[in-house]
Amino acid sequence: MPSMLDAVVVGAGPNGLTAAVELARRGFSVAVFEARDTIGGGARTEELTLPGFRHDPCSAAHPLGINSPAFRALPLERYGLEWLHPQLPMAHPLLDGTAAVLSRSVAETAASFGPRDAGTYRRLVQPFLCRWDTLVRDFMSLPLTALPRDPVTLARFGLAGLPPSTWLMRRFRDERAKTLFAGLVAHVMAPLDGFATGGIGLVFALAAHARGWPVARGGSQAVSDALAAYLKDLGGTVHTDYEVKRLDDLPPARAYVFDTSPTALARIAGLGRYYERYRYGPGVFKLDYALDGPVPWTAQEPRVAGTVQIGADSAEIGTALRAASREGRAPDHPFLITVQPGVVDPTRAPDGKQVFWAYGHVPNGWRGDLTDAVERQLERFAPGFRDRVLARATAGPPELAARNANYVGGDIATGAVSGLQVLLRPKVSLFPYNTPHPAVFICSSATPPGPGVHGMSGHNAAKAVWRRLRQT
Ligand SMILES: Cc1cc2nc3c(=O)[nH]c(=O)nc-3n(C[C@H](O)[C@H](O)[C@H](O)COP(=O)(O)OP(=O)(O)OC[C@H]3O[C@@H](n4cnc5c(N)ncnc54)[C@H](O)[C@@H]3O)c2cc1C
Repeated sequence: MPSMLDAVVVGAGPNGLTAAVELARRGFSVAVFEARDTIGGGARTEELTLPGFRHDPCSAAHPLGINSPAFRALPLERYGLEWLHPQLPMAHPLLDGTAAVLSRSVAETAASFGPRDAGTYRRLVQPFLCRWDTLVRDFMSLPLTALPRDPVTLARFGLAGLPPSTWLMRRFRDERAKTLFAGLVAHVMAPLDGFATGGIGLVFALAAHARGWPVARGGSQAVSDALAAYLKDLGGTVHTDYEVKRLDDLPPARAYVFDTSPTALARIAGLGRYYERYRYGPGVFKLDYALDGPVPWTAQEPRVAGTVQIGADSAEIGTALRAASREGRAPDHPFLITVQPGVVDPTRAPDGKQVFWAYGHVPNGWRGDLTDAVERQLERFAPGFRDRVLARATAGPPELAARNANYVGGDIATGAVSGLQVLLRPKVSLFPYNTPHPAVFICSSATPPGPGVHGMSGHNAAKAVWRRLRQT
């Protein structure tokens, strides 16, 4: 290691690794320091239950990863990352035994909503879909770290997406489209009537039509391993088992880039109360199952979908979100996001068996056990589910926070995705990746564009760092 590094990155999650890669690609010397004994943060894979069952304890489905301008510009496939596409990106089973679907095809998706909403859906997504690549680049670079390439489409997207999702859902007449769309909004744990929640739902839908919601072959660890392998080829180093508690724990460097929560950063870098107004959101209760076979869904469509949303209708989903985010209680009928990588990746479990991934929302810091409520909910749409369970691993907010300091109180978004914090995080600032300390930067999902495995926060933060390094 040189006596003075150009940059040190704290945390080997997708954003920390992307920031390190972006800097190393531009010729800067970089070292990454990670608290855990393995890299990956929220993109990792482990045998959590039984031998041969490879689970993703955190992220599993990657609509944001495959659509990320940062990832798409990196040669990650050369380093072992392979996106696998299920026949359907997502299905949302309903109590009548049918399902609404999010397909790669707009027409198939619209048809699953029924004749009264098919045209409305097509008219909603088509204008954005044909400009998707520019649009995604523009809004993932927000706030204003670069001038928009297509300000007109971005403004139109803002008009549709900045109001609450409840406004957007009023365009639909039947419950099928409303239910599926409410579920999409719930992926970031935002209450349905929150600011910009319409945009959140639209992004997930457009991502499916543009490039799908794949899983990574072998599990999400493949994303992290590809980033780290590329970094090493570029001359960067990664040090695990190294929890950073003070800036003095780190080697001398011209810049320090933190893939951590703002609160931890303030503590480590001595920034006092700089981030004291930053808010954390609800937590999740995560379950990883080893199953004796596929999930016995009543409807056909979920049997071939990578992701399956569970919530009887938009009202039930809204109630579950409100309970966890506003009322401080666990929902009776939790809204669930589930992923079944086995529909497309046979490497994840022994022959004929499956891994199954699910989580529901709970209040921040909640200490209860949601297992029974989750399984009762699954049994409504897949009767006999419990009979297929060979083993399960559960993690509520305390366990999630213990595994990864970024998940404060079990908040897997590292900060509430509500109010202005949806877009302007971790502070209202044109330079969200900078801090009052001229050599210290933040690159975690507490910065725009927010949670998800896409590396764009790391990419945007790296730009701020290299501008500073070139100035000095
Ligand atoms: C249960 C769950 C399900 C999810 N599902 C999905 C999904 O399907 N799709 C998706 O796109 N996203 C999903 N996410 C969200 C996604 O994982 C995160 O948004 C993403 O990982 C954030 O990346 P990051 O690099 O900002 O932080 P993280 O991935 O959290 O990485 C931060 C890293 O920093 C390390 N660190 C923290 N403090 C220190 C310190 N003081 N010293 C050294 N190291 C430190 C941590 O150990 C960690 O490795 C999920 C998350 C969870 C937990």
